[in-house]
Amino acid sequence: MKIWLDGGLQDTESARVSVFDHGLTVGDGVFETVKAVDGRPFALTRHLDRLTRSARGLGLPDPDHDEVRRACAAVLDANPAPLGRLRITYTGGHGPLGSDRGEHGPTLVVALGETTRRPDSTAVITVPWTRNERGALSGLKTTSYAENVVALARAREQGASEALFGNTVGQLCEGTGSNVFVVLDGEIHTPPLASGCLAGITRALAAEWTGAKETDLPLDVLERADEVFLTSTLRDVQAVHRVDGRELPGAPGPVTAKAMRIFDERAGHDLDP
Ligand code: PLP
Repeated sequence: MKIWLDGGLQDTESARVSVFDHGLTVGDGVFETVKAVDGRPFALTRHLDRLTRSARGLGLPDPDHDEVRRACAAVLDANPAPLGRLRITYTGGHGPLGSDRGEHGPTLVVALGETTRRPDSTAVITVPWTRNERGALSGLKTTSYAENVVALARAREQGASEALFGNTVGQLCEGTGSNVFVVLDGEIHTPPLASGCLAGITRALAAEWTGAKETDLPLDVLERADEVFLTSTLRDVQAVHRVDGRELPGAPGPVTAKAMRIFDERAGHDLDP
C-alpha cells in the first residue's frame, strides 16, 4: 500500500511522521474523506474547497490544491480498487510540546482505505452530549474527532451505526460523520449550518437535488418525523429504520427512496458536481 507524504509516494509500512506532529499531540489538523469510484475521486473540488475553509478556520496555511490533486491521483493509481475512501490529512506539522505552533511547515498525508457500499437503511441513536454551535471549531472538519469516536462507540454498543447530536439550544444538529434529514408531511428538512453541523458535501448535493429546506428543528422532531435519512460521503443517502427505541417500519419510505434514486443518478453522471 502506498501513501503520499512529504511530496511523494511512500510505502505505508516505512512512511514516518514526527512524533511531535501537532496533528498527533494536539489535534491541530484538518481532513477530508473523499469517495473514489474506479480510481476516480468524487466531488474533489468541493472537498478541496472545504479543506481550505477548515485550514483557514484553524489558521493553517492554505493547502496547495494542485499538490493535493496530484497526491490523490498518485495514490489512486498506485492502489487500484473499485471503491475506496481517500483520506486527506493536513496538520500543523512538527511543533513544540504544548499548543504553540512551531516554525515547521504543515504535514500532508493522502492515504486510501477500503469501504463498502452502504446498506439501504440503518439504526441511529441520539446522544446526550451537545455540539457547540458557537465553538471555535464549529463547522470545521478538524482532526479533533475524539467526541465523535466516543459517540460512535456508544452507537455501536446499542446496535446502531450512527449517533446524532443536538446543539446547545436543543436543536437537531448532525451525526458523528453524517448530516441528518427528516421528512415532515412530505417535505424534506435538514438543520441549517447555524446549528453547528458540518457543511456536508453530500448534504449540499442532496438538498439541491431534492429541494430539501434548511429548517431549525428541535431534537425531538426525531420522535415524530415520518422518515429520517442520513447523508455522507461514504453513506450517500441512507434511510434510518430505528431512532433510539422508535422503529420506522418500511424504511426507506417513499420520500427517502426517491432521494436515494435521485442522488445515485445525479452522482453517477457527474464525478465533480
Ligand atoms: N458531519 C460530520 C461531523 C462529518 O464528519 C461528516 C463527514 O465525514 C459529515 C457531516 C458528512 O459530510 P460529507 O457529506 O461531506 O461526507
